[in-house]
Amino acid sequence: MNQSLDNKTLKQMDRDHYLHPFSNLTEMKETGSRIIERAEGVYLYDSEGTKTLDGFAGLWCVNIGYGRDELADVAAEQMKQLPYYNSFFGTTNPPAAELAALIKDVTPEGFNHVFFTGSGSESNDTVVRMVRRYWQCQEQPSKKYIIGRHNAYHGSTIAGASLGGMGYMHKQDEGLPMQFVDHIEQPYWFAEGGDLSPEEFGLQRAQKLEEKILELGAENVAAFIGEPLQGAGGVIIPPSTYWPEIQRICNQYDILLVSDEVICGFGRTGQWFGCQHFGYTPDLMSVAKGMTSGYLPMGGVIVGDKVANVLVEKGGDFNHGFTYSGHPASAAVAVANIKIIRDEELVEKAANDTGKYFREQLATFADHPVVGEVRSIGLVAAIELCANKETREFFPNQGDTGSLCRNFALQNGLVLRATADTMLFSPPLTISREEIDELIAITKQSLDFVAEHYGMSNG
Ligand code: PMP
Repeated sequence: MNQSLDNKTLKQMDRDHYLHPFSNLTEMKETGSRIIERAEGVYLYDSEGTKTLDGFAGLWCVNIGYGRDELADVAAEQMKQLPYYNSFFGTTNPPAAELAALIKDVTPEGFNHVFFTGSGSESNDTVVRMVRRYWQCQEQPSKKYIIGRHNAYHGSTIAGASLGGMGYMHKQDEGLPMQFVDHIEQPYWFAEGGDLSPEEFGLQRAQKLEEKILELGAENVAAFIGEPLQGAGGVIIPPSTYWPEIQRICNQYDILLVSDEVICGFGRTGQWFGCQHFGYTPDLMSVAKGMTSGYLPMGGVIVGDKVANVLVEKGGDFNHGFTYSGHPASAAVAVANIKIIRDEELVEKAANDTGKYFREQLATFADHPVVGEVRSIGLVAAIELCANKETREFFPNQGDTGSLCRNFALQNGLVLRATADTMLFSPPLTISREEIDELIAITKQSLDFVAEHYGMSNG
């Protein structure tokens, strides 16, 4: 903490000089920002001394909770020993080598290699470079197209934002999406499923991939990329029919399957990786966030044998990499973090213990008058706010109700996120039952507040 500057000065410095990510810069010039000063366990403390339960694990990333001295200690030790050296030109460093092997131990069979990056966006940029390089090595260079989905989030770099299907991002840059990227519709049953059953709808949306491949020509398609569940898009959990059909289509047309595990990876869904929950086998997985629990920035692409063997045996030079690929301090923190997730059985807890309790408690909101659907897996969940449960009709001015609910929760001590009118939950995997009770109580108050606002009985 910087003791020498008072809060008023810091707020002014921030307002005058800091351009914030994904923020309304015009509005912030007036409103300024809240300063988060410290955190412990699942709680944040701001510069006014207000304590808030972080129901969102930072930004889906602080899986082991805040204030873990073990991570601070290994970072400090590593910085004293070797703060930085690159992994280019035939060198490595001890934590990076150890981390690569540890990741192999916690991934499904057939994943024996990893390429390190500095973030989730860089991981997905690396995916683009890597899958195209793979097809070059296989003497099928025309396989260049990568198919993503509308309302997916894969990052904010040019490639990440292109693979993603966020219209509001594409609208701000005519260069987006970049060449050789295309999108299909998403498996969002609640909003788009109409009269179909979730299973029928899931199958129909997966078959959009087949239609797109046939339209582009399989000889031109390198890969399909998807988040196991769409996180930023609204914790959209696809119907059970979706992923098996996607897997069938990728296999049939010889298209690489990329699982963007930036949110789901390292335990969020109650499995080490989201693809394990949904039962599909990708060729590559992009990761970040939970890999270090956000204590230091780091990401990676975990590469299955099919691709890795070609790159290693036939590929020669791979002309791609980052200054911070395999950063020693980040890698040391990642090793310590993954060992905590493993040794404290946080993945198991998210599946069967506190995660189960969390899901059961949230499910009780399904009958609330302003709730259209509650969906959850592991320790990640969404509540759809809507005006009419039967017809799944949203409130007018979609987004306003989500903001209302989120702001009320925040004023009452809970950080939630709203994507339009979908309330999102992703607490640290270390959250206790008592803390879950607190999260649930504030959520209930927030839903009641929304009901009251619209004059809907919460009887
Ligand atoms: N992929 C997914 C699924 C994400 O949720 C995110 C970030 N929220 C990213 C990629 C991008 O990660 P980063 O912000 O670390 O670049």
